[in-house]
Amino acid sequence: MIKKFLQKVFTKRTKAEIAINKADDSQTSTAKVIRAKTHKINQNLISQAALKTCDGLQKAGFEAFIVGGAVRDLLLNFKPKDFDVATNATPEEVNRIFRRSRIIGRRFRLVHVLWGSETIEVSTFRGHHLADGDAQTNDSGRILRDNIFGSLEEDAVRRDFTANALYYNPAKDEVLDFHNGVADINARILRMIGNPTTRYQEDPVRMLRAVRLSAKLGLKIEPATQAPIQKLADLLQDVPPSRLFDEMLKLFLSGHAIESVNALREQHLHHGLLPMLDVVLEQPLGERFVMLALKNTDERILAGKSSNPSFLFAALLWHEVLAAWQTYKNEAPPIPALYMAMNEVIATQAEKLAIHNRYTTTMKEIWAMQPRFEQRAGKRPFSLLTHPRYRAGYDFLLLRCASGELPIELGEWWTAFADAEGEARAAMLQPDTHPKKRKKRNRKKTASKTELDNQTP
Ligand code: ATP
Ligand code: MG
Repeated sequence: MIKKFLQKVFTKRTKAEIAINKADDSQTSTAKVIRAKTHKINQNLISQAALKTCDGLQKAGFEAFIVGGAVRDLLLNFKPKDFDVATNATPEEVNRIFRRSRIIGRRFRLVHVLWGSETIEVSTFRGHHLADGDAQTNDSGRILRDNIFGSLEEDAVRRDFTANALYYNPAKDEVLDFHNGVADINARILRMIGNPTTRYQEDPVRMLRAVRLSAKLGLKIEPATQAPIQKLADLLQDVPPSRLFDEMLKLFLSGHAIESVNALREQHLHHGLLPMLDVVLEQPLGERFVMLALKNTDERILAGKSSNPSFLFAALLWHEVLAAWQTYKNEAPPIPALYMAMNEVIATQAEKLAIHNRYTTTMKEIWAMQPRFEQRAGKRPFSLLTHPRYRAGYDFLLLRCASGELPIELGEWWTAFADAEGEARAAMLQPDTHPKKRKKRNRKKTASKTELDNQTP
């Protein structure tokens, strides 16, 4: 009896499962379903947080997939650096499922689901904005808002490259591929979905993404995807500076900054992007300095170390600061002139690429420290060693020496000075070449002391 009952339930469930699978198949009729034995994704490279997010959504009755760069990286057998999840649940529904989550964004509303120190970005499938005839684009076709929800299939169409439009369902260990992304990845090709010109017009940042992803992943930009870039480069002028900054930061910290910057130059994308970088890269000393800084950053990132964006941006703009400083020295003493130069460079840069304030403060500290490294007499070198940003300032000095801007010997002196102790350190100091100035100050101090003395009853 019990056996019969179980059999009945079992058969029913199997039938129900078949029905779901059928529904899946019809819904994804235009997608290729790539199974585990073909895609060979190493599940150990997938973050537990991403798996738990998909599981939570699926248990609540929604569809959920790991999507985008993470799937692409898994297929290339790289460890993804961040995981995005796509679902048919609305942001509010996602927010209700996960206690530790919050809805963010305006242009693109999504949910951050927090698991310990890891954050999973969950986005609701987006629909095709243009098909609705809605007016959320500006005159040049740039999309200003993108919050129209749609089906899984529609979501795939609005992603940028075929390699980024892959959906991995952890429960089934299957990849859904709507645009032949897997074949493109296998052929190491980066191909835009749809008409590349229209897609760049919708979002000019995609041009930067093409360059960055091709450099980072060793993918070749497919000719039709490549062709319109040079012609459309000017559209980047229209992109909000804070968005450009985020994209450029990703580019510089990708571990492939040198290749990326070289590619940007080849495509004429660097013009007006980092307005000052154009100028700097065209001077031999400036170019050498910037390339050394980028090489340094790439080496650190590829060795798994962190890299401070402030240091990098300070390096990228240093030769502009030097040039402006030279000009201001005609109207002000050296140190005030340096501060005027720093402020001018940051302000000009901010019109195109808004460097966050938290970085500009450190950039200025690194720059302001530089003239102090040239003072090797008296008490000053000791106080410089205690500066909270000494290490960054010193590394920056070494770059300046390596680029030929300063004698190598100066960097070596600071290395030895920081290592030395007690008397050996004091013995390294150079004779004070400004004794008169100091005497003058002493005299002033004495004078004021006398004045004070005079006032005391
Ligand atoms: P990375 O490895 O640097 O994170 P990524 O492709 O994952 O690269 P993200 O910015 O994390 O880049 O974006 C996640 C996914 O969102 C992309 O893979 C792509 O599917 C989609 N996406 C991101 N930016 C755009 C864009 N500008 N236009 C269309 N789709 C985009
Ligand atoms: Mg990503």
